[in-house]
Amino acid sequence: MRLSALILLSLAPLAAHAEEDVPAPPATASATRLFNHLPYGELEAAALLPVPSLPGCMMAREAVFDVERLLSAARTEGIALGAISCFRSIQHQRRVFCAGAGNCDAVAALRARFVAPPGYSEHATGYAIDFVQKGGDCRAVEQCFALTPGGQWLMRRAPEFGFELSFPAGNKQGVGWEPWHWRWVGASAARARFAPAQASFPALPAVPRADTKTAAGPFVQPPSGETAPGGGNYAVSVSRWGAAILLASSATLRP
Ligand SMILES: [Zn+2]
Repeated sequence: MRLSALILLSLAPLAAHAEEDVPAPPATASATRLFNHLPYGELEAAALLPVPSLPGCMMAREAVFDVERLLSAARTEGIALGAISCFRSIQHQRRVFCAGAGNCDAVAALRARFVAPPGYSEHATGYAIDFVQKGGDCRAVEQCFALTPGGQWLMRRAPEFGFELSFPAGNKQGVGWEPWHWRWVGASAARARFAPAQASFPALPAVPRADTKTAAGPFVQPPSGETAPGGGNYAVSVSRWGAAILLASSATLRP
């Protein structure tokens, strides 16, 4: 039996979360961190577009072109990448953050090692994406992703498409190593969004400032009738030993 399965068996049963237990997002944007995470507001819905190659994935419209370019470049090298989560609203982040916790507040600090509290997630900006390797044995949002062909390809090539790794191993920010989580800084507006993070906690690999365009590339229009709601319904569970273990909560969302 896999270690993760053993850990899963030791977890408290999944239970409906109490939204009132979640730390409240900041009333105003500030540099104040919560459990090491920086505050991020939510991108307005009108600024989002579905990513045509990633069902259920919504991102800021100016990032979609580069996502498609990245996926296409990977495919030409035989790399099959998918995504388990893209834009997440603050409300959705609240569900992700508290999933599986009877008392969300009681485990918030430990949980925040790998998942941002609502109001503090890069996913709310529409510029962040959690990639997955299609096929293989590595489950979504687990650190084994770094060893997959897709994970290794991203470390080599993602910056060419405006993506940088927000939370590299051993990052000074104090957030867990997330080899699957990449943010897009391919245009100046997006880069400005993450300026506080970049100033204090550099991404690795990072996108050089000189490679950030002042304007985004052409938009990739989604297929007509596309109404992807945005995905990312994974859960986080915390083991009795205090290690945060990320578990995909729904096989239907696994690529
Ligand atoms: Zn993420």
